[in-house]
Amino acid sequence: MNQITDILRTMDYGPAPEEDTHVRDWLKRHKGRFGHFIGGKFTPASGDTFTVPNPATGEKLADVAIAGKKEVDAAVKAATTAYASWSKLSGNERARHLYAIARAIQKHSRFLAVLETMDNGKPIRETRDIDIPLAARHFYHHAGWAELRDEVFPNHAPAGVCGQIIPWNFPLLMLAWKIGPALAAGCTVVLKPAEHTPLTALAFAEICNEAGLPAGVVNIVNGGGETGALIAGHPGINKLAFTGSTEVGRILRRQTAGSGKKLSLELGGKSPFIVFDDADLDAAVEGVVDAIWFNQGEVCCAGSRAIVQEGVAEKFYARLRARMEKLRVGDPLDKSTDVGAVVAPVQIEQISARVKAGVAEGATMYQPTWSEDLIKGKGCFYPPTLFTDVAPASKLAQEEIFGPVLVSMTFRTPGEAAQLANNSRYGLAASIWSQNLDTAFDAARKVKAGVVWINSTNQFDAAVPFGGYKESGFGREGGREGMMEYLTPAWLKSARPAAASKPIPSPLPLDGDEEARPAGIDRTAKLYIGGKQARPDSGYSYPVHDAKGAFVADVPFGNRKDIRNAVEAAHKAEGWSGMTGHARAQVLYYLAENLDVRAGEFARRIAQATGVSAAKAAREVDASVARIMYYAAWADKYDGAVRAPQSRMLSVILNEPWEVIAISCPDEAPLLGFVSLVAPALAMGNRVVVTPSPRQPLAALDLYQVLDTSDVPGGAVNIVTGDRDALASVLAKHDDVAAHWYFGSAEGSAMVEKESAGNLKAVWANNGKARDWFDPARGQGEDFLFRAVRHKAIWTPFGV
Ligand code: NDP
Repeated sequence: MNQITDILRTMDYGPAPEEDTHVRDWLKRHKGRFGHFIGGKFTPASGDTFTVPNPATGEKLADVAIAGKKEVDAAVKAATTAYASWSKLSGNERARHLYAIARAIQKHSRFLAVLETMDNGKPIRETRDIDIPLAARHFYHHAGWAELRDEVFPNHAPAGVCGQIIPWNFPLLMLAWKIGPALAAGCTVVLKPAEHTPLTALAFAEICNEAGLPAGVVNIVNGGGETGALIAGHPGINKLAFTGSTEVGRILRRQTAGSGKKLSLELGGKSPFIVFDDADLDAAVEGVVDAIWFNQGEVCCAGSRAIVQEGVAEKFYARLRARMEKLRVGDPLDKSTDVGAVVAPVQIEQISARVKAGVAEGATMYQPTWSEDLIKGKGCFYPPTLFTDVAPASKLAQEEIFGPVLVSMTFRTPGEAAQLANNSRYGLAASIWSQNLDTAFDAARKVKAGVVWINSTNQFDAAVPFGGYKESGFGREGGREGMMEYLTPAWLKSARPAAASKPIPSPLPLDGDEEARPAGIDRTAKLYIGGKQARPDSGYSYPVHDAKGAFVADVPFGNRKDIRNAVEAAHKAEGWSGMTGHARAQVLYYLAENLDVRAGEFARRIAQATGVSAAKAAREVDASVARIMYYAAWADKYDGAVRAPQSRMLSVILNEPWEVIAISCPDEAPLLGFVSLVAPALAMGNRVVVTPSPRQPLAALDLYQVLDTSDVPGGAVNIVTGDRDALASVLAKHDDVAAHWYFGSAEGSAMVEKESAGNLKAVWANNGKARDWFDPARGQGEDFLFRAVRHKAIWTPFGV
């Protein structure tokens, strides 16, 4: 027995174990075996199974059945049957169900916290205080969205039956992030938890029954990647939501390409943790504890890359090392444990290998003095680890380790800090430490990440959208933005296929064509790149004919090189993205005015090209003018939101541009289709590379003169004509294009979705469906604006 004097000297904690009897009873009640939860019932745990161990002890907790095609089919069928009635319930009825689930989670919160800790290895302090309360909060919040759906999202329908695949790091919380919005929107789900951690999802299945959720609204199937692939590929799934590694995200992007499934991906990260020299260093050290040693560092948004201002770096590292010595790593069920067990031996191997490689790369490693004993001991434990002298281009600095390993480098100027922060293929989160508001917000603005925490880290809330930039994925979870992922414009559900596009005539050398050109008229249009007319790199052009088949003009046959030039020009035009909404609105109004001045000329061009009546052509030009004005109106208004997630934090949601968007225009309404896509992108500060309708590109090409006279900066709009799908393929593969809007054939949509997987650009494809561009309910509106921005949530302490 320790003497009080000893305790005062060592400040050691005594053991404070959490009771696990109720969880053990629950496991016994299920005889340690679980099937799948399909149509409101558990299937027998027969057939192939996998074992679920407790990572802290190695003790077997349960055997769980693996779902094959038969089980996945049955789950999708149950979800489809339930969808018919669930999607027709009133918002209030759905809200009552979500509220009942939230209440039941609260009621069983201690049980769920203990079960999660035993299954995953994370400390009870975290499951009890973070995972489970946040899961309940998500259902409460989304009970509200169920209630408000029709009012806040008019003319939208639920996306349908959703497949949801979640990882092992926050099992119940990720389930809540997925199921909450889906059910609120009126969708039903088939969810697969990760093989390492299926148990809280199975307990949640029981909660669904206890809360009286109609059978089949939530279905849970177990298994590994193969089961996940069966869900992703199932034709009965309308929407797929995934959280996990970037590699699997890429596989799912390719697998679902062309299927018409909505897709959201929340993937990996290597998030910067920037410490300026005026930061409160002690607070920043505690910030690191929460950033990289929270959940053993198995956090997609972990602040795993410290970027520290040179003048304070040594002082900061010294305090960090002292703090690391005091971290308590061990029994996750002990209430005073800081860092628990890593989820599985395979993760320990992966972390160890990456750490070893880091040492070999020449970085300096520090682990607390007691680390050896921990590594040699029982259970999946890994010590907190700090690397300094890390080269920015090294693997250590670039690759996700997904363990309690912080890598660190230094910077001199704020500009250098932003450059280092953005020197990553990922863009999930960032944490910024400075006592100077200007410094902190300037960095928050410059960092390319979906979530930025100022003087804080790893803050989450159901009202604040969470999700990534770049290869950290696309789509948001939480808040109004997250609801959009589970909704679809109602009219789209019955949209008809677009008329098939006719191929363009073969390209010929500029003067090698035998088709007679009208005497005296040399109509050889040019590309428009970087604010200048440009000849195509290929030197080839193709003839454009009017509705009666008569020659009208030659247009350039753009190629890969032209697209590369256009993307480069768009990148250089970053001034457009930096302008205020007010300034962009003025330019757009001016553009509308100048188009209106030349309305007659454009109308004649459209009538000639398409064969429509003069009146209809005039209507298209007039609608184009109105559409530009509509987005000019929004340019300084669609600017984000403020959320107050907790009493001591404020969250600002900024609608940031994607920077460079590729736009492949439809054949319908050659001018209005072009304007309807380009104007919202421009209004939100994007620069665009556009390929107009291949057969009727002249109205769009003529627009260059209007762009030139309307103060649209060179490079903000770049126009390349040619074969739509050949050009779209280059754009889809281009790493410097962040989003691609494709309006063409079903096959082209599939190709763009598949080829976009390289840098995981956000694709909006029409899947070959027609759209009436004249109808304001279809041709303009928030769906366009929403696609034209990526949401950045900036959290800051507020009145502490
Ligand atoms: P994965 O991306 O492999 O797993 C995430 C989920 O996807 C799991 O449910 C998994 O099943 C499932 N899955 C795996 N392959 C497929 C597939 N082809 N089709 C459909 N579903 C699939 O992550 P891991 O668990 O393997 O972890 C590997 C690395 O991924 C980690 O070290 C970390 O770097 C990163 N990661 C990132 C996470 C994040 O939150 N961003 C979360 C987890 C991991 P199952 O696990 O059951 O086999």
